[in-house]
Amino acid sequence: MRILVTGGAGFIGSHLCERLLGEGHEVICLDNFFTGRRENVLYLLEKPRFELVRHDVVEPVLLEVDQIYNLACPASPVHYQYNPVKTVKTNALGMINMLGLAKRVRARILQASTSEVYGDPHVHPQREDYWGNVNPVGIRSCYDEGKRIAETLMMDYHRQNNVDTRIARIFNTYGPRMSEQDGRVVSNFIVQALGGEGLTVYGTGEQTRSFCYVDDLVEGLIRLMNAEGIHDPVNLGNPSEFTIRELAEEVMGVVGSKQDVKFCPLPQDDPRQRQPDITRAKELLGWTPTIPLREGLKKTVEYFAGRVKGKSSGAAVREND
Ligand code: NAD
Ligand code: UDP
Repeated sequence: MRILVTGGAGFIGSHLCERLLGEGHEVICLDNFFTGRRENVLYLLEKPRFELVRHDVVEPVLLEVDQIYNLACPASPVHYQYNPVKTVKTNALGMINMLGLAKRVRARILQASTSEVYGDPHVHPQREDYWGNVNPVGIRSCYDEGKRIAETLMMDYHRQNNVDTRIARIFNTYGPRMSEQDGRVVSNFIVQALGGEGLTVYGTGEQTRSFCYVDDLVEGLIRLMNAEGIHDPVNLGNPSEFTIRELAEEVMGVVGSKQDVKFCPLPQDDPRQRQPDITRAKELLGWTPTIPLREGLKKTVEYFAGRVKGKSSGAAVREND
């Protein structure tokens, strides 16, 4: 198949491109390099079935493809809040452009949605039939509401135009090729621990997240794309839930360091808890994550150790919101 991966030069996208090439497909990686890096896919450029296109999904594009993975969108709060209007455009106009393309060439399309559609959830763990608790006017709204309108567009193009759609609600994912400057908690803690700096815990650190290693996530995305007739959203994430303080301990354990924890203000609208109910993914896709946090952190620390050697920590710490 010929497969388009938008946002393919980003963290998850680069792993997905690699996997799809490994399975023998032709891959077109489309990216505007806002948060992605050529370096993430550099080693793929010599492969004859790989093509890298610099393009912004906010503008229409004409391509002939069989499948589209729409990952284009900054994922970390620091990046998506940098230019919130652009984040909304990427999620709304970008989604319309990709759905228009899917409709024209009859391609199947998978949207990288997010657990953020549940907002600060009142239902725990989160099942796909929970409609969420999202602030429509807060600083996370450009992303949360952007991803919600993208899901609406997916469902309406499916119902109205019979586009073959898949919606993956991705929970916190980590692994090699995360950007050390994107301000997400796993990358921040690792670069801080490696640099001998205090780990910046926002709020009390009692808020929870569930962390999925990128290889598990990519497996789930590919299974969902290739399963027949699943148009409703499917959660993809690791159900093992940790408080942020526990994560700090885990990271220090893997790095083999002991630092102080530096408490910083909790960002506005920061969800208090997050854990996926993955019953639907288990039943429909036979998918369940296999890589425990400690093992995934080891691989991620190895990657960051190579990058931050000799440099001071590049962690993007949020002073206040
Ligand atoms: P990332 O920032 O590393 O990758 C996003 C990629 O999209 C980057 O390469 C960026 O340059 C590109 N991009 C952004 N705006 C674009 C535009 N207008 N046109 C073309 N390309 C554009 O983030 P990631 O963690 O790899 O996330 C990939 C996708 O998965 C995103 O859609 C994100 O919302 C979703 N997601 C990620 C997580 C996670 O924990 N990593 C969780 C939930 C959902
Ligand atoms: N966080 C933290 N220290 C950091 C970065 C993040 O304590 O240096 C917290 C953040 O407040 C949130 C959790 O870790 O509660 C996950 O944050 P991240 O930005 O990785 O993802 P998201 O909030 O989108 O789940």
